[in-house]
This record gives sequence, structure tokens and C-alpha cells, in this order.
Amino acid sequence: MSLFFRPSFHHFLSVRLLGTAAPRTLNGKHLESSSFQGGDACPVALSFEDPSAFRVKSFGELLRALGVFRLCSVPILVNNCGKLMSFARSLLGKRGFSLILRPTVYAQFVAGETEGEIAVAMEKMSSLGLRPMLAASVSKVRVLVDAEYTYMNPALSLVTMAMMKKFNQKGAWIWNTYQCYLKESRLLLLDAISQSVDQSFCLGVKLVRGAYMDKERKLAKQEGRPDPVHQSWEDTNDSYNGNLDIMLDLISLHPQCYRIIVATHNEESVRHAVSRMGGLGIDKHAGSVCFGQLLGMCDHVSLTLAQQGYSVYKSVPYGSVDDTVPYLVRRAQENRTVLQGIRKERDLLRQELRRRLREGLTGGRK
Ligand SMILES: Cc1cc2nc3c(=O)[nH]c(=O)nc-3n(C[C@H](O)[C@H](O)[C@H](O)COP(=O)(O)OP(=O)(O)OC[C@H]3O[C@@H](n4cnc5c(N)ncnc54)[C@H](O)[C@@H]3O)c2cc1C
Repeated sequence: MSLFFRPSFHHFLSVRLLGTAAPRTLNGKHLESSSFQGGDACPVALSFEDPSAFRVKSFGELLRALGVFRLCSVPILVNNCGKLMSFARSLLGKRGFSLILRPTVYAQFVAGETEGEIAVAMEKMSSLGLRPMLAASVSKVRVLVDAEYTYMNPALSLVTMAMMKKFNQKGAWIWNTYQCYLKESRLLLLDAISQSVDQSFCLGVKLVRGAYMDKERKLAKQEGRPDPVHQSWEDTNDSYNGNLDIMLDLISLHPQCYRIIVATHNEESVRHAVSRMGGLGIDKHAGSVCFGQLLGMCDHVSLTLAQQGYSVYKSVPYGSVDDTVPYLVRRAQENRTVLQGIRKERDLLRQELRRRLREGLTGGRK
């Protein structure tokens, strides 16, 4: 099963691997033993306001992140970034294109191309208390199947549910993804739950809002079908929180059988999950609920959660510049829709940059 250990980028888009190993340390402390005020049943409010989360980044990384997020806020660039990238690729050639992309957008969102580069990225993540999603250096892995376009999802789900039935008898090793921007997401989730009850298998759920909104709408319009996506962000949000509540209620009753990764950069959804976990008495160390963000996005959310002792995974894409272009285009477009999180991240990055410049000027004197 070489796919498990060195998947091509194309395959990575459909399957992600979760390592079971715990991250090593954070600020010299083991996370599993990190002190947490109030205990599990009474979580402290998460503020996500602390720029110190970015102290671990080099000056160059701070500048790069700010520059990339700035570019992602220019609508004309983002709306046409696919076309602009292929134009630049044909104008500059493979080498020239790679020279520009590698130190900038690519370095922000992709771990690297070689095993050495990926190992360095994973090591860094692990030292911050974050778990890489796509870890192959562990003896057991969980397989998360991504959700794609609605014309592909039924086939993907059929195979995934069949694999769950075979491999998830004693634990959730195979997980499926539910895109809450789809009007049918509630029905799909309830159907999966009822299959898991009827056929006695464990259900692993990756809950996302959904990454292909523009294309879904365009396709539906072209084919004269009703739009499969909720009408507004608010409706998607209600759908996300509703599906999240269904899963958390189930997990509180059967923590061994139901598992969820709350895959979002949205601070309110994260707060909602943490508060409900506290209310239902779900143990944050038990592994039945974990959180996920993409590499290069909303590190302040990931690091704050990790500091509070929650399990946090960073999705780690890798591959050559050419292979990752479609992924990079999606990230740029996503940064346009993940407005609130990115604005906050930019503010925090600026604060940290200013702090370092002040420190440099005053030689560290207060
Ligand atoms: C770990 C991880 C794994 C992921 N895996 C997948 C995957 O397998 N498949 C997949 O499709 N995506 C995947 N995603 C991406 C995800 O679906 C979202 O696109 C992304 O996380 C942004 O949503 P948010 O909840 O983080 O941010 P938010 O800012 O809260 O929400 C932005 C999202 O809301 C929705 N939205 C925005 N505007 C509207 C509107 N006008 N009407 C309706 N809905 C709207 C869109 O889904 C948009 O992406 C993954 C994300 C993470 C973090």
C-alpha cells in the first residue's frame, strides 16, 4: 500500500492520514499534562487574541505570511489567480515560475517536495504541540477521505462507507467528510449515523464547511439544476453548528464509537465546540473530538487550542510547485471567504512584527 506512505499530490487531495502519536512538547511541557484551568467540564474561554502564538515564526516567515494574506485580499487577483498562474507559468517557464512561487505562496501553504523538507515541516509542527495530518512515521494511521465536488461525492462515500463497515468494527480508522455548505449535508450525516447503528461500525466524521462553492454554483447553473449550496454563509454556519451538535451529543453517549475532527478556521465554531464539549463532559484528552486547520492558515487558532491541551491537526500538503497549483488557487480563493479569521491573523502578525521591530530598536529594553 505505497499510497499510504508516499501518496502523490493528486491522491492526497482525496485522502489524508492522521497519525495517532501525540505531539512532543509545547513550551517545554507535555501537552497531555498541560495545566488547564477549570478542568475538562468547565473550559476557559478561548480568546485567540494572543500574538505570542507567532513568536515561533522567523522575521522572514512573518513578512511572507503578511504579504501572502495581503495579496489574497485583492479581489481581482484572487478571482483570476488560476488564469494568472497559468499565464505566468507559460511566460516564465517551469523554472522561472517555480523561483517566484516557491519562496512565497508555495512556502506559506505547502510543506515541501522532498522527504527532507516535509520532515522539517512536521518536526516544527510537532514542537509547537500540533499534530501533522498525513503522518506516516507511526505504526497505525487513520484514513480521512476528503469530500470533493457533488458529482464525485456519492461514489467516494459509497467506497468510504464500505471501508468503514469492514475496518471500523472496533474503532474509527476510516473517516468520511461532510460539507456543511451543502443543503443535503444534514441528511447525509444522519444517514451515515443510522448505517453505523444498523450495521454496528464506528463512525469517524471530518466536518467542514466546503471548499468548492463557486464551482458548485457555476456547474448547477450551467446544467439548470438547483444550487446544492446553502444560500448564505449564515445558513452554512447554522448547518455546521447543527451537525456539530449532533455529533457531540452522540460522542458524549458513545465516545469509543463516534469521533469528529472539527475542521474549521472559524473561531466561533471552535468556541462553540469547546463550550459544548465542556457542557457535555467530553474529555478533551480522549481523542474523540479533535480540531483541524490547514497549513499556513489561522495559526493563532491552532496554537491557542494546542496551548489549552486540545488535539489539533494541521493538514500538511506536499508536492512540486506544478502539482500544487490547483491547491494553491483554492487556498487563495478560500482566504477570500475565510475573511474574519484571516483579518485577525493579519492583525496579530502585524502586532508581532511591530513588537520585534521595537525590540530591535530598543535592544530589548522596555
Ligand atoms: C483540516 C481541513 C480539512 C479540509 N478538508 C476538506 C475537504 O475534504 N473537502 C472540502 O470541500 N473542504 C475541506 N476543507 C476546507 C473547508 O471546507 C473550508 O473551505 C475552509 O475550512 C473554510 O471554512 P471555515 O469553516 O474554515 O471558515 P469560515 O470563514 O467560517 O467559512 C468560509 C466557508 O463558508 C462557506 N461560505 C462562504 N460564503 C458562503 C455563502 N455566501 N453561502 C454559503 N456558504 C458560504 C464556504 O464553505 C466557505 O469556504 C478542509 C479544511 C480543513 C481545515
